[in-house]
Amino acid sequence: MLLILHPDIQENDPAYVKTLAHLKQISGVSLKHHQVNGQEQLLHEIYLLGNTHAINIEDIEALPAVEKVIRISEEYRILGRHKDLQRKTGFHYKGLNFDQDSLHIFAGLCAVDNPKHVEEMMVALKANGLNCTRMGAYKPRTNPYAFQGHGKDCLPWVFDLAGKYGIKVIAMEVTHESHMAEIDQALRDAGNPCGVIMQIGTRNTQNFELLKAIGKQSEYPALLKRGFGITLSESLNAAEYLASEGNSQVIFCLRGMKSEFGAPHRNMVDFAQVPTVKRLTRMPVCIDPSHSVGSRDVAPDGVLELCHATAQGVLAGANMVLVDFHPAPQKALVDGPQALTLNELDIFLKDMEIARTAYLARVNAWKNHSAKA
Ligand code: PEP
Ligand code: MN
Repeated sequence: MLLILHPDIQENDPAYVKTLAHLKQISGVSLKHHQVNGQEQLLHEIYLLGNTHAINIEDIEALPAVEKVIRISEEYRILGRHKDLQRKTGFHYKGLNFDQDSLHIFAGLCAVDNPKHVEEMMVALKANGLNCTRMGAYKPRTNPYAFQGHGKDCLPWVFDLAGKYGIKVIAMEVTHESHMAEIDQALRDAGNPCGVIMQIGTRNTQNFELLKAIGKQSEYPALLKRGFGITLSESLNAAEYLASEGNSQVIFCLRGMKSEFGAPHRNMVDFAQVPTVKRLTRMPVCIDPSHSVGSRDVAPDGVLELCHATAQGVLAGANMVLVDFHPAPQKALVDGPQALTLNELDIFLKDMEIARTAYLARVNAWKNHSAKA
């Protein structure tokens, strides 16, 4: 059972004290406290765990600090919606709101290679009014002899450049918990010019020790990629690992499934599940068209297949797009063949805006339809 308390209530408030005293004396039930930082409010949630079947919901609703009571299922205890369509989604980070209504574009380098390319990328982002990016410093590679990323050595200049060009948030993959400490140190040394979302790649979706380590801190939000060969439910449970340790600032990313049936795409595009993840959980949903489609192939209508896939995800209500760009894809050290070029950023954004406008119009049309019914 989940209790949502009145927003911004203080722990020394008499209503809070009275409510807690009542809850603590219910036998066979333990309490777990969870806080959610919203844009305007601090939300307190209390989970009643154990033998909650005998509890009368009306008694709990009548407690002075309680705003709402929700019966929850075992699945996705914290991140799940539990059929409550009004449940608050997402979180606030570095002045930006990441929720199931917003849309953020994280265009950037799959792998950081040199300061010149990072700077050219950031100049283009700024010129196009973008303040988020992706920058891979730690690269998980199939081949042990392939470029593994510059790791912590590149962080000082990547963060300096982010500050110079007004980048607020960087999505950066970490493959070991020590990488989080290195990022934390480098951000401090640079004077905290930007924020970082800890990206957990598809190969690490079920690396539970990594998930627990990232879940134990709440300074940095997490972006969890769907596992490429496990069920959606298994990947959503992996996300719940982060929340169960205390960090519910989690974005879920669809990036395609490994399957021969997806060929000639690199992975089988799974963006039809954007609304499904939003229905089952309250995580904002990201799409990664680059690692799904994996090429720059152009359809007969003149549109890149990668951009068609992006539009499909946005049209289905995606909240974030993680996409590879590179100033000189032929020189990129990782995933050059799927990178868009800087002079394609403008058309990419125009295309996305068309899809986003169409998505909002679709939602409105359905609202009007339901109001009439
Ligand atoms: C990436 O985003 O750079 C990446 C390696 O993606 P994935 O984990 O989805 O393969
Ligand atoms: Mn890549």
